[in-house]
Amino acid sequence: MSTRDSTRLYCSICKRRVKGFKNRSGLQRHETLKHVSYNTLPSHIQPVSESELSHLKKAIIKELQKRLKNHHTAVGKQVFSIHCSEDAFVGIFRNHITCYSPCGSSYLCIFKGEKAFDEVGKVLDDKNWGERNYGGGQLSFVRLYMPESENNSYDQNAKKSKSKLVYNGEMTVKWKVTGGRDKENHKFEAGSAQFRFFLDQCQI
Ligand SMILES: [Zn+2]
Repeated sequence: MSTRDSTRLYCSICKRRVKGFKNRSGLQRHETLKHVSYNTLPSHIQPVSESELSHLKKAIIKELQKRLKNHHTAVGKQVFSIHCSEDAFVGIFRNHITCYSPCGSSYLCIFKGEKAFDEVGKVLDDKNWGERNYGGGQLSFVRLYMPESENNSYDQNAKKSKSKLVYNGEMTVKWKVTGGRDKENHKFEAGSAQFRFFLDQCQI
């Protein structure tokens, strides 16, 4: 059964799926539904030098620290993006990729749970990557874990703001190509990694 219709798109993950897809969005929908935890890395990834990776890690931490604000209104969802190549992204997050989409050429990492803060610290070579000390016991930090007892009081607060709860207690990092094209089909696009996390504050 090697007669494949060249006008159709085929899933590169399902080995024996004969029926292709009419368009890209159909294939993307199939990948999202059927291959939600597919994370085999593509073969085109090239190694990136340690010094480049080290610079990118520092740039990530710098952008993140800028968002660890002290004022109480900053508590909640935070988002930022940083431009980086696919090779560099995989170079840093290689062992933590939750999902890779061959059709969309995108990668997703999810960090959450009791050990996640230390895990990200190892990835970024900085154990204090996600906290900022303002002196006098004031700490702003990335929340990746919610202890059970605190969860109950948060549930009540969260009724006011549902979106806070959604992002509370995890950080996602998604790499994809973004940009566009003009009327003459001139493409302007580049890869970037988008970080979403929940900022919290406490007294220590
Ligand atoms: Zn498939």
